[in-house]
Amino acid sequence: MRHIRSHVLIGIDANSLLAGAKAVEEALIKEVASQGLEEEIQIVETGTLGPIGQGVIIVVYPDGVTYANVTVNDVPEIVSEHLLKGRPVKRLQILPAPPEKVVKIKPTGLVRRPQTRVVLKNCGVIDPESLEEAIAAGAYQGLTKVIEEQISPEGVMDEVIRSGLQGRGGAGFPTGRKWSFTAPGPVKYLICNADEGEPGTFKDRLILEGDPHRLIEGMILAGYAIGAKKGYIYIRGEYALSIDRLNKAIQQAYKEGLLGENILGSDISFDLEIKKGAGAYVCGEETALIESIEGKRGQPRLKPPYPGSFGLWGKPTVVNNVETLSNIPPIIVNGADWYHTLGTPKCPGTKVYTILGHIETPGLIEVEMGTPLRDIIYEYGGGIRDGKKFKVALIGGAAGAFIDESRLDVKMDFESLREYAAVLGSGAILVLDESSSIIELLYSILAFFQHESCGQCTPCRSGTHALMTIIKRIHNGEGTKVDLDLLIEVAEVMRETSLCPLGQSPIMPIKSAVEYFRDEFLRAVSTPQNSVTEHPTTQEEKAHQIK
Ligand code: SF4
Repeated sequence: MRHIRSHVLIGIDANSLLAGAKAVEEALIKEVASQGLEEEIQIVETGTLGPIGQGVIIVVYPDGVTYANVTVNDVPEIVSEHLLKGRPVKRLQILPAPPEKVVKIKPTGLVRRPQTRVVLKNCGVIDPESLEEAIAAGAYQGLTKVIEEQISPEGVMDEVIRSGLQGRGGAGFPTGRKWSFTAPGPVKYLICNADEGEPGTFKDRLILEGDPHRLIEGMILAGYAIGAKKGYIYIRGEYALSIDRLNKAIQQAYKEGLLGENILGSDISFDLEIKKGAGAYVCGEETALIESIEGKRGQPRLKPPYPGSFGLWGKPTVVNNVETLSNIPPIIVNGADWYHTLGTPKCPGTKVYTILGHIETPGLIEVEMGTPLRDIIYEYGGGIRDGKKFKVALIGGAAGAFIDESRLDVKMDFESLREYAAVLGSGAILVLDESSSIIELLYSILAFFQHESCGQCTPCRSGTHALMTIIKRIHNGEGTKVDLDLLIEVAEVMRETSLCPLGQSPIMPIKSAVEYFRDEFLRAVSTPQNSVTEHPTTQEEKAHQIK
């Protein structure tokens, strides 16, 4: 019998693939074989091992030694020194990694605080393409508990309501209450919104790449609670690795009786299908997403009626985000009271973020709700890189708000952010140092909104164009003080009159930018001959060339 002495996990995600992860994996397999260790050492592909920007990352278990920026040339030394002689290669080593109910990812170097991982518990720990490893790490325990203890759909829904879980897609609406609004009827649908499309946002992709069975289990439980026997995962077509891993996981689940008719011999039935989106940001809006699944142009519907009563194919439908559904299995396994031990009384649980920009350790983190933004940047992100000073953070993605130095102690949860007219949004935190221009950043954000407006309603179609015209004037040193008020006024009208959140959102970055950095804007509008940076222009912008 083969006796495995060490497991070598290699993180395979979109970033590490670009850094040569496959070549490193092949080199590891060959080197292990050439040193006669193939019976004792097992090479295992896993999801993202973070931090981003550290190239190919591998973790050696049981030692828990992590190597970053590994190249093919480093492989012989790792195999001969560490795997053969038990001496870790210090020059490549970054941090040890561990795993339980909540996994604490140990700090390293500039990162001083351990993460609290619930949703990401298995990411970077298991082989995401192995159902056996997922089960060994706790997958489908929530489902088996429901079957063995004969918990009713109402019981599952009550547990989720009691847990206080709020939707992690942006708005933070209580998940259990949303489920309870589903109209009665013989046919209902559950949709997982995996159409992650904001700049700098990729947390859902890394959850899917690292632990696809968690989402599948969450969907089965959610479908059971609301009475849906069919689910769809609507995912961006560009997420090739996520789609591949989800497809494999769904096939494995069907093969083992975890999906389909009478799951594990119970009276629970659930089918799951993947629908690929074409990359339109507006399809992240639930009714546009539903239209897209129905094969129509992805544009938001007028509401009411809401999807809970008139959704996919006109049937009652619930749309939940990847991170939201991934929270369901641990809530069912451990109970609502356990969930309340994490986070704040009003916002329990954890939150997954992507932190990017001028930060020492960009990447994916999961921390408790209510963690101050300052701690996220300095304790988990390692602080501002190159010894520079913090200037601003854009939280919640392009449709989020700016937070300046004076507000850095804000607690990151739905409740606390409301005071600052900010939202957790997409979970992206973009950090900028003192050398950054707030006007340049706002220019990019408004260009994004203009590009992504679906054009269905006039306030957004014309409003995004008007905002772009104004910010270009300011950026080019041709603006006036009136333009600052005009930016806010146009965005306010859009918030009041646009059909969907895309048109309602530009007010947040605009208002916070102009309010917190008014001096910078005043300097720009009072200096007529500011230097002009060339921006890439879209066809649409060229057609509307600003004088
Ligand atoms: Fe389309 Fe914008 Fe109107 Fe939304 S607000 S429906 S994106 S035009």
